[in-house]
Amino acid sequence: MRCLECGARLERIDNEHLLQCSGLTVQEYALRHHLPLDLILHPDQLDVVPDPAAWPSGPGRPVSEPARAVLSGLGLAGRLGREGDFTVVHGEVRRLDLLLWTQARLEACGLRFMQTYHYRPDGHRVEARNTLRVPARLCDPFPLRLPDDPERFLDAVAVFLAFAGEWHADYLFLPTRDGTLGRALAHRLAETFGIRLEDLGPGWLAEGVLLRTQSPDHTWRLLNLLDRRLEELPGVLEQFAPEGPEATITKVFEFDSAHFITDHPGRCVNLHGGRYALHVRVTDRIQPATGFVMDYGELKALVKRRVIDRLDHQNLNYVTSGLAWRSSTELLATWIWEQLIDYLPGLSELVIHETASSYCRYVGPDLETFRREGPSTLLGHFADPELGRSPWRARLREQGPALKVVGEG
Ligand SMILES: [Zn+2]
Repeated sequence: MRCLECGARLERIDNEHLLQCSGLTVQEYALRHHLPLDLILHPDQLDVVPDPAAWPSGPGRPVSEPARAVLSGLGLAGRLGREGDFTVVHGEVRRLDLLLWTQARLEACGLRFMQTYHYRPDGHRVEARNTLRVPARLCDPFPLRLPDDPERFLDAVAVFLAFAGEWHADYLFLPTRDGTLGRALAHRLAETFGIRLEDLGPGWLAEGVLLRTQSPDHTWRLLNLLDRRLEELPGVLEQFAPEGPEATITKVFEFDSAHFITDHPGRCVNLHGGRYALHVRVTDRIQPATGFVMDYGELKALVKRRVIDRLDHQNLNYVTSGLAWRSSTELLATWIWEQLIDYLPGLSELVIHETASSYCRYVGPDLETFRREGPSTLLGHFADPELGRSPWRARLREQGPALKVVGEG
C-alpha cells in the first residue's frame, strides 16, 4: 500500500514508518485520512500482548514524590489501573500529547507508551487504545495518596484537572471515582489555598463524587493557582477558556405521575394521572477535548437520578411540600430547575408537556443567582415557618372551641 503522508510504497503501515515520516501514530493517520483501522492494519498487528521481558528485570525503584504526584492525579481522574501484571495509564487519541507529557514525567518509573489495536466482536470493528504501561513489579502506585508537600500536591491537582476537568459556564467540574481521595483533595484545597470545591455527590457518575468550584471566582483562583503547571500541560489551557462556539443540546424524558390541583374549579381537583414529557436543554461551549457540550449519557444519568426517579410512578403532590398544594407544570418546572442547576450551570430551558396540547416553558435563575437568592418563594409557602404565626391565626386561637362547631344549634 501507499503511505498517504509521504507517498512511499510499503508492505504495511505501522508506527515505525509513520512516526518517521509524519510524526503520526497509526490511529491519527487513520483519522486524518478517514480510513477504518480494519483496512490499514494487518491481522498480526491486532491484539499484540505486551511482553514484560521488554522491561528491565528485577524490582523497580521506589516511586519518587514528583512521580507519585502525577500518579495520584491520574488515579483521581480515573486514568490509572491494573491490567493483569501491568500498571496502566489510559489516554485518548485527541490528547495524545498530554499522554506523552505524562510518560515523560513518569519515565523513571518505566512507563512506556503503546498504541494497541483490538478487534471488538460486538462492535464489528478494530479499535485502538492508547496507554502507558509498566509491569507492576517495577511500579506499583497503589494505594494512592495525596502528596504532603504543597508544590507536589498542586502537581497532582493539575494532572487531575488536565485529564478529568470539565469547564461548564465558568464553573470547573472535577469528576472522580475515588471519592475518599477526591474529598481529601477538596479539603486540602480549601484549608491550604482557600479554594472551595462543592461535593455534589455522584451527580452523573456511576460511582465516586463530582466536585465543582463553588463559584466562578473560585474557578479563576484555582486556574491562577495552577497557571504555570497548566501551561506546561499540552492542550489543557484550551480546555478551560470561556471562548469558543456554543451549542444547545436537548434530552427528552418521559415519566408517569399522578397529581391533583387543590382548590381548582375544574376536574383537575381530582386525582388523575398522565404521561409527562420533560425536555432539558443545556447551552454551553463545545468542549474541545470531547466535541460535546455534555455527554448525552451523562445528562441522562443525572436527570434520571435527580428528577425522574423521584417523580416517576408517584403522586407529585406528595413528593415535596413545594408541589403539595398545586403540582402545576409551572411549579413542577421550577422545582426541577432547582434540582438540576447545581450540576448544569449551562441549563437554558425546561419544557414540560402535561398533554400533547398543554405544555410549559421555563427558564429559572442561573447558578450564581440561585446560590445567592436560594430556592423560589413560589414553592415555599407551606414550608415557611412564619405560616401559622400571623395575627389572623392568633384571632383564630382566641375564637376557641367555636372553630370546632359545625352545624350545631
Ligand atoms: Zn509515510
